[in-house]
Amino acid sequence: LANLKFHPEPTIVKLNNCEIGGKKLIVMAGPCAIESESQLLESAEAAKNGGAKVLRGGAYKPRTSPYAFQGLEEEGLKYMKTAREKTGLSVICEVTSINAVQTAVNYVDILQIGARNMQNFELLKAVGKTNLPVLLKRGLSATIDEWLNAAEYIMSEGNPNVILCERGIRTFETATRNTLDISAIPVIKAKSHLPIIVDPSHASGKRAYISSLSKAAIAAGADGLIIEVHPNPKVALSDGPQSLDPHDFSVLMDELKPIATAV
Ligand code: PEP
Ligand code: MN
Repeated sequence: LANLKFHPEPTIVKLNNCEIGGKKLIVMAGPCAIESESQLLESAEAAKNGGAKVLRGGAYKPRTSPYAFQGLEEEGLKYMKTAREKTGLSVICEVTSINAVQTAVNYVDILQIGARNMQNFELLKAVGKTNLPVLLKRGLSATIDEWLNAAEYIMSEGNPNVILCERGIRTFETATRNTLDISAIPVIKAKSHLPIIVDPSHASGKRAYISSLSKAAIAAGADGLIIEVHPNPKVALSDGPQSLDPHDFSVLMDELKPIATAV
């Protein structure tokens, strides 16, 4: 179902305020984790002012350590809904369990499957049974074929609206958090009709590299970007070092304008 051979037209995922996979570059922005209503609303303003169309924010956080902040869960999803009402942005949240899927469908416009759950097949089937678009992140050590098979799990349940997200893979290199696999973009374009966006924040782990990786992603043909933005990255409960503040986010968006149609 994800194969370009049997579906030569590009898939365009339609949201209330934008399309993903069409001519325009789509930007999703927002904090790693939803921390409070005011933190989320400030992030939403920053995302909107910069020109993003989708607000990101985690309510269920799949942290490497069980002692790290785990997310506000349904309370966070309520703040997402408020942010959507106030700004008109579409909203996306990661789901980490079948229970979370059942809750999140009442609050968000796009469901996100995180890298750590790319081969959680029961979870893939559960999001495949919903009628919301799904952002499917590439697994930490997943090949492109494994990733497309994960998309197939979602689509075979009847949900055609899958958006792929390259977020860096694990290599021997430690200078960056992960290694952004730029070649995944042309490879996916050669194999699939699904839209593909890039997450330079989790790929690099460092805000200094986000501008270069964003430009590389656009040059390679990505349909969009998902970028972590926090009102005050210094006090962020997760992923502060890779988060942009509102000012740096709008500077980045201005830099991208000449190379992307209608950011
Ligand atoms: C995230 O987007 O918040 C996240 C946890 O990313 P990943 O699944 O790519 O690590
Ligand atoms: Mn994060």
